[in-house]
Amino acid sequence: MRRKLLLGNWKMNKTSAEAKQFALDTKELVELASKNNIDIGVAPTYLSLAAVKENADKRMIVAAQNCHFKESGAFTGEISIPMLLEFGIDWVLIGHSERRAYDNETNLKCHDKIQALLANNMVPVYCVGETLAEFDAGRTKEVVSRQIKEGLEGFSAEQVKRLVVAYEPVWSIGTGKNASTEIAQDVCGFIRELLREQFGAVADEIRILYGGSVKPENIKAYLSCPDIDGGLVGGASLKRESYEGLLTNIL
Ligand code: PEP
Repeated sequence: MRRKLLLGNWKMNKTSAEAKQFALDTKELVELASKNNIDIGVAPTYLSLAAVKENADKRMIVAAQNCHFKESGAFTGEISIPMLLEFGIDWVLIGHSERRAYDNETNLKCHDKIQALLANNMVPVYCVGETLAEFDAGRTKEVVSRQIKEGLEGFSAEQVKRLVVAYEPVWSIGTGKNASTEIAQDVCGFIRELLREQFGAVADEIRILYGGSVKPENIKAYLSCPDIDGGLVGGASLKRESYEGLLTNIL
Protein backbone atom coordinates (compact mmCIF):
# COMPACT_ATOMS: atom_id res chain seq x y z
CA MET A 1 0.00 0.00 0.00
CA ARG A 2 1.56 3.31 -1.10
CA ARG A 3 1.18 6.23 1.34
CA LYS A 4 -0.35 9.36 -0.11
CA LEU A 5 2.10 12.23 -0.54
CA LEU A 6 1.37 15.94 -0.76
CA LEU A 7 4.41 18.05 -1.62
CA GLY A 8 4.48 21.82 -2.12
CA ASN A 9 7.03 23.39 -4.45
CA TRP A 10 7.59 26.98 -3.39
CA LYS A 11 9.92 27.82 -6.29
CA MET A 12 11.48 31.29 -5.79
CA ASN A 13 8.89 32.43 -3.25
CA LYS A 14 8.95 33.34 0.45
CA THR A 15 11.66 34.98 2.47
CA SER A 16 13.13 32.95 5.29
CA ALA A 17 10.90 34.81 7.80
CA GLU A 18 7.80 33.99 5.75
CA ALA A 19 8.88 30.37 5.41
CA LYS A 20 9.39 30.12 9.19
CA GLN A 21 5.90 31.52 9.81
CA PHE A 22 4.37 28.99 7.42
CA ALA A 23 6.21 26.19 9.23
CA LEU A 24 4.85 27.36 12.59
CA ASP A 25 1.34 27.87 11.22
CA THR A 26 1.08 24.40 9.70
CA LYS A 27 2.18 22.25 12.65
CA GLU A 28 -1.33 20.93 13.28
CA LEU A 29 -1.79 20.17 9.57
CA VAL A 30 1.26 17.93 9.65
CA GLU A 31 -0.19 16.25 12.74
CA LEU A 32 -3.50 15.75 10.90
CA ALA A 33 -1.72 14.34 7.84
CA SER A 34 0.28 11.97 9.98
CA LYS A 35 -2.84 10.68 11.79
CA ASN A 36 -4.32 9.93 8.37
CA ASN A 37 -1.20 8.20 7.03
CA ILE A 38 -0.43 10.97 4.58
CA ASP A 39 3.09 12.30 4.01
CA ILE A 40 3.16 16.06 3.67
CA GLY A 41 5.95 18.49 2.91
CA VAL A 42 7.30 21.54 1.13
CA ALA A 43 10.31 22.43 -1.00
CA PRO A 44 11.47 25.92 0.04
CA THR A 45 14.41 27.82 -1.43
CA TYR A 46 17.86 26.85 -0.13
CA LEU A 47 17.94 29.89 2.14
CA SER A 48 14.71 28.86 3.88
CA LEU A 49 15.43 25.17 4.33
CA ALA A 50 16.89 25.55 7.82
CA ALA A 51 14.07 27.86 8.99
CA VAL A 52 11.43 25.36 7.91
CA LYS A 53 13.32 22.35 9.22
CA GLU A 54 13.81 23.97 12.64
CA ASN A 55 10.29 25.31 13.06
CA ALA A 56 7.96 22.80 11.39
CA ASP A 57 6.52 19.67 12.97
CA LYS A 58 9.33 17.09 12.79
CA ARG A 59 7.24 14.91 10.46
CA MET A 60 7.08 17.65 7.80
CA ILE A 61 9.08 16.60 4.72
CA VAL A 62 11.47 19.41 3.84
CA ALA A 63 12.87 19.05 0.33
CA ALA A 64 15.46 21.06 -1.59
CA GLN A 65 14.55 22.15 -5.12
CA ASN A 66 17.87 21.04 -6.62
CA CYS A 67 21.38 19.88 -5.72
CA HIS A 68 24.73 19.24 -7.37
CA PHE A 69 25.94 15.68 -7.86
CA LYS A 70 29.54 16.38 -6.79
CA GLU A 71 30.40 16.63 -3.10
CA SER A 72 32.39 19.84 -3.44
CA GLY A 73 34.46 21.78 -5.96
CA ALA A 74 34.56 24.69 -8.34
CA PHE A 75 30.84 24.97 -9.07
CA THR A 76 29.90 28.56 -8.30
CA GLY A 77 26.33 28.99 -7.11
CA GLU A 78 25.73 25.29 -6.47
CA ILE A 79 24.82 23.37 -3.30
CA SER A 80 26.03 19.82 -2.60
CA ILE A 81 24.44 16.82 -0.92
CA PRO A 82 26.66 16.95 2.22
CA MET A 83 25.58 20.60 2.64
CA LEU A 84 21.92 19.54 2.56
CA LEU A 85 22.49 16.59 4.88
CA GLU A 86 24.14 18.90 7.39
CA PHE A 87 20.71 20.52 7.80
CA GLY A 88 18.84 17.21 7.85
CA ILE A 89 17.50 17.68 4.32
CA ASP A 90 17.17 14.31 2.61
CA TRP A 91 14.55 14.93 -0.07
CA VAL A 92 15.39 16.78 -3.32
CA LEU A 93 13.36 17.68 -6.43
CA ILE A 94 15.25 16.70 -9.56
CA GLY A 95 14.57 17.78 -13.13
CA HIS A 96 11.71 20.21 -12.47
CA SER A 97 10.58 21.53 -15.85
CA GLU A 98 11.64 25.06 -14.93
CA ARG A 99 15.17 23.80 -14.32
CA ARG A 100 15.04 21.78 -17.53
CA ALA A 101 13.91 24.90 -19.42
CA TYR A 102 16.08 27.60 -17.80
CA ASP A 103 19.11 25.71 -16.47
CA ASN A 104 19.77 23.14 -19.14
CA GLU A 105 18.90 20.24 -16.86
CA THR A 106 19.14 17.20 -19.15
CA ASN A 107 18.06 13.62 -18.45
CA LEU A 108 21.74 12.71 -18.06
CA LYS A 109 22.34 15.47 -15.51
CA CYS A 110 19.25 14.31 -13.65
CA HIS A 111 20.63 10.77 -13.73
CA ASP A 112 23.87 11.83 -12.04
CA LYS A 113 22.01 13.75 -9.36
CA ILE A 114 19.61 10.86 -8.67
CA GLN A 115 22.57 8.47 -8.49
CA ALA A 116 24.29 10.68 -5.90
CA LEU A 117 21.09 11.03 -3.87
CA LEU A 118 20.38 7.30 -3.86
CA ALA A 119 23.98 6.60 -2.82
CA ASN A 120 23.32 8.81 0.20
CA ASN A 121 20.02 7.12 1.08
CA MET A 122 18.11 10.25 0.12
CA VAL A 123 14.79 10.62 -1.69
CA PRO A 124 14.86 12.06 -5.22
CA VAL A 125 11.56 13.39 -6.56
CA TYR A 126 12.20 12.96 -10.26
CA CYS A 127 10.05 15.32 -12.35
CA VAL A 128 9.11 14.36 -15.89
CA GLY A 129 6.64 15.72 -18.42
CA GLU A 130 6.18 16.97 -21.94
CA THR A 131 5.97 20.51 -23.32
CA LEU A 132 2.85 21.85 -25.04
CA ALA A 133 4.42 21.36 -28.50
CA GLU A 134 5.24 17.75 -27.63
CA PHE A 135 1.73 17.18 -26.25
CA ASP A 136 0.15 18.67 -29.37
CA ALA A 137 2.35 16.49 -31.57
CA GLY A 138 1.17 13.36 -29.68
CA ARG A 139 4.70 12.74 -28.36
CA THR A 140 3.92 12.64 -24.60
CA LYS A 141 4.75 8.97 -24.05
CA GLU A 142 7.86 9.08 -26.22
CA VAL A 143 9.21 12.04 -24.22
CA VAL A 144 8.30 10.66 -20.81
CA SER A 145 9.68 7.25 -21.73
CA ARG A 146 13.06 8.78 -22.61
CA GLN A 147 13.09 10.83 -19.41
CA ILE A 148 12.42 7.73 -17.30
CA LYS A 149 14.85 5.46 -19.17
CA GLU A 150 17.76 7.90 -19.32
CA GLY A 151 17.18 9.41 -15.90
CA LEU A 152 17.00 6.07 -14.11
CA GLU A 153 19.34 3.91 -16.16
CA GLY A 154 21.47 1.39 -14.29
CA PHE A 155 19.90 1.66 -10.85
CA SER A 156 18.83 -1.43 -8.91
CA ALA A 157 15.30 -2.28 -7.80
CA GLU A 158 16.46 -1.90 -4.19
CA GLN A 159 17.75 1.63 -4.91
CA VAL A 160 14.64 2.93 -6.66
CA LYS A 161 12.31 1.82 -3.84
CA ARG A 162 12.89 5.24 -2.27
CA LEU A 163 12.35 7.15 -5.51
CA VAL A 164 9.30 9.35 -6.10
CA VAL A 165 8.33 10.25 -9.68
CA ALA A 166 6.29 13.37 -10.45
CA TYR A 167 4.47 13.61 -13.78
CA GLU A 168 4.06 17.29 -14.58
CA PRO A 169 2.95 18.20 -18.09
CA VAL A 170 4.81 21.47 -18.71
CA TRP A 171 1.72 23.05 -20.29
CA SER A 172 -0.18 22.64 -17.04
CA ILE A 173 2.38 24.14 -14.65
CA GLY A 174 1.33 27.51 -13.31
CA THR A 175 -1.08 27.97 -16.22
CA GLY A 176 -4.37 26.99 -14.58
CA LYS A 177 -4.77 24.49 -17.47
CA ASN A 178 -4.62 21.24 -15.55
CA ALA A 179 -4.53 17.91 -17.37
CA SER A 180 -7.76 15.93 -17.22
CA THR A 181 -7.75 13.03 -14.78
CA GLU A 182 -7.94 10.70 -17.82
CA ILE A 183 -4.71 12.12 -19.26
CA ALA A 184 -2.99 12.19 -15.88
CA GLN A 185 -3.93 8.58 -15.07
CA ASP A 186 -3.02 7.39 -18.57
CA VAL A 187 0.50 8.85 -18.33
CA CYS A 188 1.05 7.89 -14.69
CA GLY A 189 -0.08 4.31 -15.48
CA PHE A 190 2.32 4.31 -18.42
CA ILE A 191 5.15 5.48 -16.13
CA ARG A 192 4.40 2.64 -13.72
CA GLU A 193 4.58 0.16 -16.62
CA LEU A 194 7.96 1.63 -17.66
CA LEU A 195 9.18 1.29 -14.07
CA ARG A 196 7.96 -2.32 -14.05
CA GLU A 197 9.86 -3.08 -17.28
CA GLN A 198 13.01 -1.46 -15.91
CA PHE A 199 12.88 -2.60 -12.26
CA GLY A 200 10.24 -5.32 -11.88
CA ALA A 201 7.72 -5.64 -9.06
CA VAL A 202 9.19 -2.76 -7.07
CA ALA A 203 7.27 -0.49 -9.49
CA ASP A 204 4.23 -1.07 -7.30
CA GLU A 205 6.03 0.53 -4.33
CA ILE A 206 7.22 3.67 -6.13
CA ARG A 207 5.02 6.70 -5.56
CA ILE A 208 3.94 8.65 -8.62
CA LEU A 209 2.64 12.20 -8.18
CA TYR A 210 0.68 14.38 -10.57
CA GLY A 211 1.60 18.07 -10.74
CA GLY A 212 0.22 20.97 -12.75
CA SER A 213 -2.35 23.46 -11.51
CA VAL A 214 -3.45 21.18 -8.66
CA LYS A 215 -5.80 23.01 -6.31
CA PRO A 216 -7.98 22.09 -3.32
CA GLU A 217 -10.94 21.73 -5.74
CA ASN A 218 -9.33 19.19 -8.07
CA ILE A 219 -6.84 17.25 -5.94
CA LYS A 220 -9.30 14.59 -4.82
CA ALA A 221 -10.12 13.58 -8.39
CA TYR A 222 -6.42 13.06 -9.18
CA LEU A 223 -5.82 11.00 -6.07
CA SER A 224 -8.74 8.75 -6.86
CA CYS A 225 -6.82 7.55 -9.97
CA PRO A 226 -5.20 4.15 -9.40
CA ASP A 227 -1.66 5.19 -10.38
CA ILE A 228 -1.59 8.66 -8.80
CA ASP A 229 -0.33 8.60 -5.23
CA GLY A 230 -0.15 12.29 -4.51
CA GLY A 231 0.40 15.80 -5.78
CA LEU A 232 3.33 18.11 -6.42
CA VAL A 233 1.80 21.53 -6.01
CA GLY A 234 3.21 24.96 -6.76
CA GLY A 235 0.89 27.97 -6.43
CA ALA A 236 -1.69 26.35 -4.16
CA SER A 237 0.97 25.33 -1.63
CA LEU A 238 2.04 28.89 -0.87
CA LYS A 239 -0.81 29.97 1.39
CA ARG A 240 -1.70 28.12 4.55
CA GLU A 241 -5.43 28.14 3.69
CA SER A 242 -5.05 26.47 0.30
CA TYR A 243 -2.39 24.09 1.65
CA GLU A 244 -4.91 23.07 4.30
CA GLY A 245 -7.58 22.67 1.60
CA LEU A 246 -5.28 20.38 -0.40
CA LEU A 247 -4.82 18.17 2.64
CA THR A 248 -8.36 18.11 4.00
CA ASN A 249 -9.77 17.26 0.58
CA ILE A 250 -7.75 14.04 0.41
CA LEU A 251 -8.27 12.78 3.97
C1 PEP B 1 5.11 22.89 -9.85
O1 PEP B 1 5.79 23.89 -9.69
O2 PEP B 1 5.65 21.80 -9.76
C2 PEP B 1 3.69 23.04 -10.14
C3 PEP B 1 3.00 21.97 -10.43
O3 PEP B 1 3.16 24.32 -10.12
P1 PEP B 1 1.60 24.73 -10.14
O4 PEP B 1 0.90 23.83 -9.12
O5 PEP B 1 1.57 26.15 -9.74
O6 PEP B 1 1.09 24.47 -11.51
